[in-house]
Amino acid sequence: MTDFQRARRVSLQRKLFPVILIFTAICVISIALTLVALGIQSTVRAYVAGEGMWSKAGHDAGFLLQLYGRTRDPAYLARFHQAMEVPLGYRKARLELLRPDFDAAKVEQGLLQGRTHIDDIPGVIRMFRCCSKLGDFERAVEAWGEGDKFLLNLQSLANDLEDEINSSSYTPERVAALLDEVETATARVQPHADEFTRALGDGERTLVQWLRIATVTVVGLLVMVGIYISGRILQSIRESEEQYHLLFETANDAVFVFDRASGRTLEFNDRAMRLTGKSEEELLHTRYQDYFVPTPGASTAPAYLQGSHQADMRIDGAIVPVEVGGSTTHLGSMAVYLAIVRDISERLKSERALRVSANAMANMAEGVVITNAEHRVISVNQAFSVITGFDAAEVIGKPLHFLMFRHSDATFYSAIVELVIKTGKWQGELYHQRKNGEIYPAQLSISTVTDEHNAVSHFVNVFNDISKNKEYEQRLQHLAHYDPLTQLPNRATFHERAHAAVVRAGDAGERLALLFIDLDGFKMVNDTYGHAAGDCLLQVAAGRIQDCLRQQDIVGRLGGDEFTALLEDVTSREDTLRVAGKLLQVLAQGTTYANQEISTFASIGVSFFPDDGANLQTLLTHADTAMYEAKKRGRNNVQVFHPDMTLNKSSRMQLSSYLKHAIEGEQFELYYQPCITMRSTHMGSVEALLRWHHPELGDIPPDIFIPLAEEIGLISSITEWVLQTACAQGMRWQAVGLEPIQIAVNISPANFWDAALPANIDRILHQTGFHAERLCLEITETALRNQEKSKQMLAQLNAMGMRLAIDDFGVGYSSLNYLKHFPVDYLKIDRSFIARIAQDRSDAAITRAIIALAKSLDLEVIAEGVETAEQGAFLLLEGCDEAQGYFFGKPMPA
Ligand code: C2E
Ligand code: CA
Ligand code: CA
Repeated sequence: MTDFQRARRVSLQRKLFPVILIFTAICVISIALTLVALGIQSTVRAYVAGEGMWSKAGHDAGFLLQLYGRTRDPAYLARFHQAMEVPLGYRKARLELLRPDFDAAKVEQGLLQGRTHIDDIPGVIRMFRCCSKLGDFERAVEAWGEGDKFLLNLQSLANDLEDEINSSSYTPERVAALLDEVETATARVQPHADEFTRALGDGERTLVQWLRIATVTVVGLLVMVGIYISGRILQSIRESEEQYHLLFETANDAVFVFDRASGRTLEFNDRAMRLTGKSEEELLHTRYQDYFVPTPGASTAPAYLQGSHQADMRIDGAIVPVEVGGSTTHLGSMAVYLAIVRDISERLKSERALRVSANAMANMAEGVVITNAEHRVISVNQAFSVITGFDAAEVIGKPLHFLMFRHSDATFYSAIVELVIKTGKWQGELYHQRKNGEIYPAQLSISTVTDEHNAVSHFVNVFNDISKNKEYEQRLQHLAHYDPLTQLPNRATFHERAHAAVVRAGDAGERLALLFIDLDGFKMVNDTYGHAAGDCLLQVAAGRIQDCLRQQDIVGRLGGDEFTALLEDVTSREDTLRVAGKLLQVLAQGTTYANQEISTFASIGVSFFPDDGANLQTLLTHADTAMYEAKKRGRNNVQVFHPDMTLNKSSRMQLSSYLKHAIEGEQFELYYQPCITMRSTHMGSVEALLRWHHPELGDIPPDIFIPLAEEIGLISSITEWVLQTACAQGMRWQAVGLEPIQIAVNISPANFWDAALPANIDRILHQTGFHAERLCLEITETALRNQEKSKQMLAQLNAMGMRLAIDDFGVGYSSLNYLKHFPVDYLKIDRSFIARIAQDRSDAAITRAIIALAKSLDLEVIAEGVETAEQGAFLLLEGCDEAQGYFFGKPMPA
């Protein structure tokens, strides 16, 4: 048996104490009752003995009186008197006892005289007082009284006898008569004495009977009550035992009982075994000191075993953080520590994780609002307050809807929430409202937190003020679509809008007019008054052009001093000419710059849709042609396109037919322009540029013949020729021992959309032996407009090992977003930006932005058209990787 079990037994005994007490009481009461019964019995017996004495004394007295009468010996008389003492004593006692306020001393005296034993006297008195009126005892007392009368008679007879004997007139006859009387009296006593004896005997028997019944009944009742109470006590003990066991064994925490003196483990539950991984036997031999790492600075008493504390427990050599609810107590006589131990490593871990996430949330740049299922705010972070202007205290408990959103968006938010509940997440942009009422665009993401029943318990709203991003995006958009100097749509935007207008007009059967406006003498202004003056002039001109036109007309700046205007819904040529005439007028007005009068004129060419062309490109070419005609005719005038005009520049038809024979006539030549690696000024690659030497027309620039070739379907054979020639040239350079070099070839959009392109290139590479990795294809953004198709083609080309470059980057239509989806290697910044980076802040900004964008997408940047050292320095500083331009080398023959 363990000490603990011993101690438990002691405590059990304590609980059993009332049971023991009850049974002791039963015993005591039983004994007492028995003693009382015995006492009563002995008192009765004392009565009976007294009665015996009384009756015997009566007999003796009668007999002694007889002897005295016959012998006349006074000794007998003396003995008679002696014998009479007893009944007289009893009589005295009886008479005294019959009085309500009897004198106990007199009674005692009488009883002593009647030879009652002194110890029996109190019992006799008590009994006489209690029982003399009860049945048999009343009878006995009556018999006793009757008997006494005759005894008294005997006394008076004795006196008479004495007188007779002592008298001088003594006669034997008289004596004999007296003696007869004595005999009669004596005989008379006898029946009363018998009655007295009988009644007493009956009384005694009845009393003893009653005493027995009473004793048995009382003891029996007591025993029953005792058994009942003990049963109840035992039941409650058993219940509390069971409860204790249940609590102890099913406790969620490990429970240990340690001996305070030795530290030994006395008792433990299942959970304790599971926590420690020890067997029962092992646990009984382990002391708490072996488990708990001592609290630093604590004295001998283990602090963690008193009150609630965190402590460290050694389990299998590892330290496990636990929470101990300790108490010092006694089990019986034994001082013990009771320790309730809970492993809190998981809790600490999650608390730590909570702290980390709380910290993260607090330090996030995004605003975070956590709401409950009813969308009432539970917590917000610092960034929330910074962005919205609301303090945490102002919003906790408030519904989120009307706190953060415009009223119109609150319903929208409710709809989103419905969605979030279904899908668990939502992300998008919404307009939020600050405390001061200011509206701002925000990127919002909402997610749900679910409880253990999978019901949504919280919503986590993370948002970001994206007004800055929006601004930046808008600025970039603007930069990409508008001419930064005049704020007019740039070439790309103009093309886009004008193209749409042409399509619209085609569908609606309406007429359009395209005006090509070129400022005359602008170059002179630039050269004479400086670029700033030129810029000012351009801005003024742009403003005036816009003022002359209607809101819906599309105006653009194509570059330099060239403007275009597309007039929609044109009713007559005359109207258009009137507008053009007004334009001439306002553009000729001149302006002042730095106190100097600057004046220019304009030449305007006009083409009409659908009369002069079915598409934008043709309309532009024809308006351009008309504009040249105007210049030829002395400037400051308007010309409407006429087919005859093209003849002057060799008719397109003519050119087309020439172009068809250019390849076989060997009129094409490839020029190569070096591309320099900025950091090393080393030639990294060359770009192949096509030249057309026409025997009669002379050199025709690619800007003229390439669009024509595209239009008449010659471009694929031309591109094939270029690829073939460039690859063969690459191999030739290699053969003469030059370092292998990368060659870039321009690919028209029409080529790019041709599904046969990869196969053709593959064939050429095989034929020439040129490595695919050294071939770079330059594609314009226009070619990438169909993103899905482009993606496939680019992937195919990329898989063949070729490099891919986006040419003329910055003037295209496409959003910047597409770049990250394409496997592109280079971005070539359009030379129109480079041309003015030194003078124009916007161009510098665009160039800088493109370089940053390329870097962020991991692309190499090539700047085209670098003509000056200044431009080169700027690009080097901005981190541009490669550059190409007249400054480093013009295109030249191989
Ligand atoms: P691109 O692809 O942007 O070619 C660069 C153009 O910029 C070339 O004009 C080049 O001579 C010119 N350039 C180079 N450095 C400078 C400089 O420092 N300042 C100035 N102002 N210009 C410079 P090029 O040779 O007249 O070609 C014009 C366009 O014709 C090319 O523009 C390209 O789009 C197209 N092209 C030329 N060859 C081919 C070809 O083989 N196939 C196709 N599809 N298109 C070609
Ligand atoms: Ca190019
Ligand atoms: Ca280019």
